[in-house]
Amino acid sequence: MNGKNGIMKKLQRIHQSSGKHWVGNGFPVRSVFDYNGLGRELSPFLLLDYAAPHPFPPGSEKRGVGAHPHKGFETVTVAYQGELEHRDSSGGGGKIGPGDVQWMTAGNGIVHEEFHSAEFTRRGGPLQMVQLWVNLRAKDKSAKPGYQTLLKGQIPNVPLPDEAGTVRVIAGAYAGKKGPAQTFTPINLWDLDLKAGKSAELPFPDGHTTTFLVLNGEVKVNGEKTAGEGDLAIFERTGDRITVAARTDTRLLVMDGEPIPEPIVGHGPFVMNSRAEIQQAFEDYQLGKMGELD
Ligand code: MN
Repeated sequence: MNGKNGIMKKLQRIHQSSGKHWVGNGFPVRSVFDYNGLGRELSPFLLLDYAAPHPFPPGSEKRGVGAHPHKGFETVTVAYQGELEHRDSSGGGGKIGPGDVQWMTAGNGIVHEEFHSAEFTRRGGPLQMVQLWVNLRAKDKSAKPGYQTLLKGQIPNVPLPDEAGTVRVIAGAYAGKKGPAQTFTPINLWDLDLKAGKSAELPFPDGHTTTFLVLNGEVKVNGEKTAGEGDLAIFERTGDRITVAARTDTRLLVMDGEPIPEPIVGHGPFVMNSRAEIQQAFEDYQLGKMGELD
């Protein structure tokens, strides 16, 4: 906490997710926000898709999305239920299951595919996951593509005071415990479990964008408003902490980051700083410069 300020980040508003749509044949998601709507306000976060628990019957056909490109940002996939398998043109890839995270740097341009794992498809069962897009500064948009698999066992699970629950630190730090993700700009990404009837005060840097998605349960925010499943709480950047009080057992995905004060121009899978760069990205992809999947 920052003694200089010592004030709460005001709750700006509770934002509701828009309707459900399918990404490929594997991901029934709600668009919580995207770069065209809240990209500036929630910088450095560009897009958040939430696949609430959805039952898949046992099957034999591949489920997910085939080869497609990205450029200019990072995609972060958090698996809660089910199992996913990714593969990309930089040679990166891997399988993630409940509690695991995949952090892919599209950077200069990448082609990847995102599928349910073959075993999960065969077995069937509920899928619950989140995909978050994190912007890169102009100078990092040409970074070499990269891939980090962050397994559950590598992600510190830090207890909240008063046995109120736990914070899984995917990126950044909580209570001095650092998360395993390497990020280009300062980011805290936490998976927070708060027990029914308990509350917590959460510290964040003054000036950062701070927001959270309610995955399960219901929580009272700063003692003011209630946020339920699928709601996104958006805070003012000024201030250095928020409070949450759980009415039922609650799980939150907490996102906090230093804003990137640069223009955001996005089209489909590319997010750059100008229209000319978007045009260039489409040309590069069509010329095969973002690589191919074997
Ligand atoms: Mn993708």
